[in-house]
Amino acid sequence: MKIALAGNPNSGKTTLFNVLTGSNQFVGNWPGVTVEKKEGKLKGHKGISVIDLPGIYSLSPYTPEEVITRKFLLEEQPDVILNIVDGTNLERNLYLTTQLLELGIPLVLAVNMGDVLAKSGDNIDYAKLGKALGCQVVAISALKGTGIKEMVDEVLAVGRENKLHSIMHKYSGSVEHTLAHIEEALLHDLPLNQQRWYAIKIFEQDELVMQKFQAFGAELEHIKKDIAECEKEMDDDAESIIIAERYSFIEKVIKDCLRRTGKSKMSTSDKIDRIVTNRFLALPIFAVIMTAVYYISVTTVGTWVTDWTNDVLFEEIIPPAIESFLVAVGCAPLLQSLILDGIVAGVGAVLGFVPQILVLFIFLAFLESCGYMARIAFIMDRIFRRFGLSGKSFIPMLIGTGCGIPGIMASRTIENTRDRRMTIMTTTFIPCGAKLPFIALMAGAVFGGAWWVAPSAYFMGIAAIICSGIILKKTKMFAGEVAPFVMELPAYHWPTVGNVLRSMWERGWSFIKKAGTIILLSTIVIWFLSGFGFTDQGFGVTDDINQSLLAAVGSAFAVIFAPLGWGSWEYSVATIGGLVAKENIVATLGIIFGFAEVAEDGVEIWGLLGAQLTVVSGYSFLIFNLLCAPCFAAMGAIRREMNNGKWTAFAIGYQCAFAYFVAFTINQLGNLFLFGTFGIGTVIALIALVGFVYLLVRKSPEEKLEKTAAKLIAE
Ligand code: GDP
Ligand code: MG
Repeated sequence: MKIALAGNPNSGKTTLFNVLTGSNQFVGNWPGVTVEKKEGKLKGHKGISVIDLPGIYSLSPYTPEEVITRKFLLEEQPDVILNIVDGTNLERNLYLTTQLLELGIPLVLAVNMGDVLAKSGDNIDYAKLGKALGCQVVAISALKGTGIKEMVDEVLAVGRENKLHSIMHKYSGSVEHTLAHIEEALLHDLPLNQQRWYAIKIFEQDELVMQKFQAFGAELEHIKKDIAECEKEMDDDAESIIIAERYSFIEKVIKDCLRRTGKSKMSTSDKIDRIVTNRFLALPIFAVIMTAVYYISVTTVGTWVTDWTNDVLFEEIIPPAIESFLVAVGCAPLLQSLILDGIVAGVGAVLGFVPQILVLFIFLAFLESCGYMARIAFIMDRIFRRFGLSGKSFIPMLIGTGCGIPGIMASRTIENTRDRRMTIMTTTFIPCGAKLPFIALMAGAVFGGAWWVAPSAYFMGIAAIICSGIILKKTKMFAGEVAPFVMELPAYHWPTVGNVLRSMWERGWSFIKKAGTIILLSTIVIWFLSGFGFTDQGFGVTDDINQSLLAAVGSAFAVIFAPLGWGSWEYSVATIGGLVAKENIVATLGIIFGFAEVAEDGVEIWGLLGAQLTVVSGYSFLIFNLLCAPCFAAMGAIRREMNNGKWTAFAIGYQCAFAYFVAFTINQLGNLFLFGTFGIGTVIALIALVGFVYLLVRKSPEEKLEKTAAKLIAE
């Protein structure tokens, strides 16, 4: 048996899916998180699968989510549709229900958010609602787990008996008349239960369905005439007639079934929003919150543990222990070196940052599930809409704070191709979890643990996204209407401890897994390259890392980075290593600077790294690596989402060029202001900066056109 979970975005589908299947799908508090359908097995029952479909508001053919969902429902014919609706917002949610009911598939309606409803004091008469709609209705709370058993029993009963509900919603006379004509002329070969849905879609002249019936040439023309007549009679176009009649049906149902005893007092959620989304306070509050998050995870709480893992665990405890073990078993010196100078130095350096990562992930999980992050997209939309940026473009960025790949994938919800491409290009500017060890390392080693370094990395990412967005939107390639952004802000709620910890652990665990696989492999390659090279005696083992293959590779690239202030082979190699995975920057630096060895004079190893960079070149190095091309896996995701080689190349080229520009400007102007250095580089940086500002503020081609048009009209 197949149970399909369908409903509006944010109605709780994924929460319910996780309850039903015991799986751990990502529950985000914003629409568009479930872009693909997910399948799982119903817990405690054999052979019953549950499919979590993307959230949709209607079954029209306009957005990718709608197309995926209706294709699944029509072609795979699940045995039951479990339609989950947000009980606190019945009006909006039942609109989809009226359409699902017409599909001719048995349906159970689950009214969710029972816990919120109980508090609000609104009363739903579920029995009456069931009668009015013609289907089974159950009340649940997916979050608290109430009503789930009754719901499952109901769904299984309906599915087993293949019990089709009766259609209670009839359209007005002339519409029903036309529908009957359509069924007679075009649909008599279809199974009886599917006819009504197709008839309505043909009446609406739904593109996808019309294509399917093209072969019916003459009959179709005849039907079109019927529809036109009906439109004339009702004085509206067909699609609007259907929409309007659906809403008036819902209005009537709600009047009968919903009693609002709730005082029309402002809810706590609204009160919080009055402040948090306030026109003037919203951005400062966001800045304070994110600064605190990064400050706490990178500079304080995280560091207490990280210092210990880095300076004691991976320096004084593990390496000597492994060394004495290797010596005791008589391990060959070369293998010993591989394990200690390669794997322990590289992987250990990365694992040393696990505590900080986990702390950051706890904060992110909390902000996401309590409902705050959803507000950010809303706030950003309000501010940057006038610059051509839609809130839809900010959601991928918020998701990308964990990992860039789901962020890039979340861009699928943007229908407008130009905006989608732009979002794919800029999403990975946000520092993902894998970049955090590098940020933390730089903050500690180069900036003496200054509080502002980690938050500034995050805000640099946001600024890069916003500036890129504004600049790109003004070019012909990306110009156009701003994608509409409709989002309901879910009520704030306390996330459950389990949910937050689970989300933290999932992300943290995938980080640790990466350290044991891809980073491990990379460290072996880097160790090899750092220990072999061309010496006076020809190719072979070398003690002088400056003669190694690694140094040779790095030196080849170092010239490119010299204008950025860090043109030595060590940093070039680390940057290239970062393309495999961003943690690799730390792993590579760990191997090069001998992280696993205890320094003879007792200074912290990372201090050696800091000694080679100034505040300015260090910051330039940090920012370049945060903004340049993401890791290979994320580039792969860009390639898949762009579905085009040229666009992929353009996106990655743009990211690198943008990173280069920013790092170059930081280095040149930073040196000018802090150290008074002036040279040809400074001049170029100043010119580049002026050019950048021009690109930001210039008029877009459309604005120019409008202006000329206005002038002509005036004349
Ligand atoms: P989806 O978009 O339909 O998959 O919805 P999600 O499962 O991601 O849930 C959206 C938000 O609603 C999450 O923050 C959930 O924690 C929350 N949520 C889901 N079900 C309930 C419920 O029964 N009560 C409350 N208070 N919140 C819920
Ligand atoms: Mg979902």
